[in-house]
Amino acid sequence: MTVDHKNPELMEKIVSLCKRRGIIFQSSEIYGGINGFWDYGPYGSRMKRAVEQLWWGEMVETRHNVEGLDSTIICHPRVWKASGHLDKFGDLMCDCRSCKARHRVDQMEDQTACPNCGSKDLTEPREFNLMMKTYVGPVSDEEHIAYLRAETCQPIFIDFNQVRVATRQKLPFGIAQIGKAFRNEINPRNFIFRSREFTQMEMEFFCEDAESMEWFNYWKGERIKYYREKLKFTEDIIRIYEHEKLAHYAKAAIDIEFLFPFGWGELEGVHHRGTWDMSRHEEFSGTDLQYIDHDNNRKVTPTIIETSVGLDRTMLALLCNAYDEDTADTKKEGQETDVRIVLRLPAKVAPIQVAILPLSKKLAEGGEKLYKDLSSRFRSEYDETGSIGKRYRRQDEIGTPYCITFDFESAQDNAVTIRERDSMNQERVNVTQLREYFDTHI
Ligand code: ATP
Repeated sequence: MTVDHKNPELMEKIVSLCKRRGIIFQSSEIYGGINGFWDYGPYGSRMKRAVEQLWWGEMVETRHNVEGLDSTIICHPRVWKASGHLDKFGDLMCDCRSCKARHRVDQMEDQTACPNCGSKDLTEPREFNLMMKTYVGPVSDEEHIAYLRAETCQPIFIDFNQVRVATRQKLPFGIAQIGKAFRNEINPRNFIFRSREFTQMEMEFFCEDAESMEWFNYWKGERIKYYREKLKFTEDIIRIYEHEKLAHYAKAAIDIEFLFPFGWGELEGVHHRGTWDMSRHEEFSGTDLQYIDHDNNRKVTPTIIETSVGLDRTMLALLCNAYDEDTADTKKEGQETDVRIVLRLPAKVAPIQVAILPLSKKLAEGGEKLYKDLSSRFRSEYDETGSIGKRYRRQDEIGTPYCITFDFESAQDNAVTIRERDSMNQERVNVTQLREYFDTHI
């Protein structure tokens, strides 16, 4: 590794690579952009789906006691009254009268001076509600106000009964959902770390209060294991922050933090939420949301353990961890420059897993056949333009772990050369063994 991951300049390099290679770019750019909104391009959207799938596989598909949900973004407005978002979900903010910058007070190191220009001429801190508003139906008046969800977990709480009855699950069990959330953040910044529209991956685990701390510790362990083993984050870039101040209903809360180039930042929260959510929705909806334990003939208000992670922050963490500039033997691949940009992404989440590169356009037929065979199983790309060295670089930049070159001998010996991204080592593999090769390596 030649790149210092604590270096703020790394962020600029990543933003620029993402834009240049169509991974992530500013939304509505031709209109001057819109602050806090980002589009995922061809490679970014493939990678995002892969990360989503990894989480879904880990949290839902391989667990008999977690069910999936895909709820609406707009819910009944009372949901947000019950959750406390309409009354309290805001940050204190202040404006600098000199440079007009707006700041979140809790993020200012010195709360008496503007972090932007140093002026002490600041407005009094004011509450700012982060809920995004819209109107449902043809009339835009108070009665028709609705809100875009600020988190994906509230619909999970209100659908608890439906899911439980439909699946015949008994406590303890979880409900998970991946979806968009919207917050009118005062200061969207640090690329996709803090935006106004983002994706959350949340799992709410419903259990008995007496067992809740055991489940809290279980999920904390599971989530850390996921970062270490699946995303390959090493100990030096991931840490646990234990909350000292807890909400009155909670028994424990931690954040899993990642070392971004701008410093440590929250990636995921694992929270003990007590019976707060279910009690509030019972109270505001007037619906009985208690769970009946038929074995012991009693009613229980479930206690909730939550794991809540931002998909966009996971993407940023993966990109920061993967970015590298390599002075390895790039000339051996016919490159004029001696530095290559390479994303050392885990193969499971790389936008493209296998690139098929025929050595000459004359070999297109064999190359395309390979593409057809492999693309149904692995995220693949076919590229026949430019020198082979340039094509390797293009794949390195988007993190493709394996490139296959189909050459003039391939038609005769039915074998191809596989070049590995990090070591740049090459090996000859028979076409009949390719699927098995990638099944073991990806
Ligand atoms: P922060 O303190 O950074 O504002 P939070 O504590 O409000 O975050 P939660 O409400 O716990 O965050 O949301 C759970 C997860 O959703 C966070 O850990 C983060 O990964 C993601 N998230 C929250 N807000 C944003 C945002 N504005 N942009 C991108 N991801 C976000």
